[in-house]
Amino acid sequence: MFDIQKYIRPNIARLKPYSSARDEYQGTEGIFLDANENPFGKFNRYPDPYQRELKQELAKRKGVPQDQIFIGNGSDELIDLVFRIFCEPKQDKAITFVPTYGMYQVSADINDVELIKLPLNENFDIEMDSISEYLKDRSIKLIFLCSPNNPTGNHLNANAIEYILNNFNGIVIIDEAYIDFSNQSSKISLLDLYPNLIICQTMSKAYGVAAARIGWGFAHPEIIQLFNKVKPPYNVSLPNQQLGLETLKNESVFENNVKEILQQKEWLIEQVTSLKVVLKMYPSDANFFLIEVDDANAIYQFLSVKKIIVRNRHSVVRNCLRITVGNASENQTFINALKAYTL
Ligand code: PMP
Repeated sequence: MFDIQKYIRPNIARLKPYSSARDEYQGTEGIFLDANENPFGKFNRYPDPYQRELKQELAKRKGVPQDQIFIGNGSDELIDLVFRIFCEPKQDKAITFVPTYGMYQVSADINDVELIKLPLNENFDIEMDSISEYLKDRSIKLIFLCSPNNPTGNHLNANAIEYILNNFNGIVIIDEAYIDFSNQSSKISLLDLYPNLIICQTMSKAYGVAAARIGWGFAHPEIIQLFNKVKPPYNVSLPNQQLGLETLKNESVFENNVKEILQQKEWLIEQVTSLKVVLKMYPSDANFFLIEVDDANAIYQFLSVKKIIVRNRHSVVRNCLRITVGNASENQTFINALKAYTL
């Protein structure tokens, strides 16, 4: 039986969390003279520290109970929190598979935790042989799996993910920032089987509200309570909670956006693969894709002079650029520019 208590940093297990005014009195009506707020104005009150309305809607939409949801200031907040909750600086370690999302390394560095980076294979998938020796190591507390993976765009092998879940004595984080663009389903259904699993998703991509900084994690209620204990009391602002709620309720806008982005992606891929300058296009389950070109730095420069900004990933995958799918006219302009480079 997985006992989460064994995995918590001792100082976090002992931590007596801050008790905010809104923790101590949870009613919404009354004369509020308890939180040193200003009595005037529209945004004068602190927001709900637990974002209950937003969680209620999210629970309905995703079929996950509210006590298994944590909402963060973007999913980047969750990545930082897992290090702070589970890893003793200078002592504990974490694993990820590279190339992948850069914030796992940055958060590890901020928290002074060693991140072991195991290379993905030539198809950017997990190499099963590379992991078994690490799974029983008690100093390794976290494994980050980004699926679909950024910047490569592909899903990680489902068998490898389950193998890790079945054999690792620690916390597994599956980062599903791009899951809404994929034709594979979320791993949410695994939550009931694995009390050590955290699934992260975000409103920054398919929901189209990156500015609102809303990301969430689904996990066992005990893990959610740890997140609540460590987070800043009012980590998601009221305007952001409101925008998040409005966006979540508007399912047809979400669906139309995803549909349009996927159509545009298909068009872009068709165009890109016909260009001589593109040596390889990697398959993608996300709203971006990776292309290999003969000289990524030169093409990046050429495009940026034309004010077309792509992500130069040459430093992590040789001569590769990551292209985010834009709207029809942006995509057309990008293709025209690449054609001009070819000439
Ligand atoms: N995970 C992945 C894989 C990402 O690519 C990103 C953003 N680029 C994030 C998490 C962070 O998303 P958010 O905006 O929710 O902090």
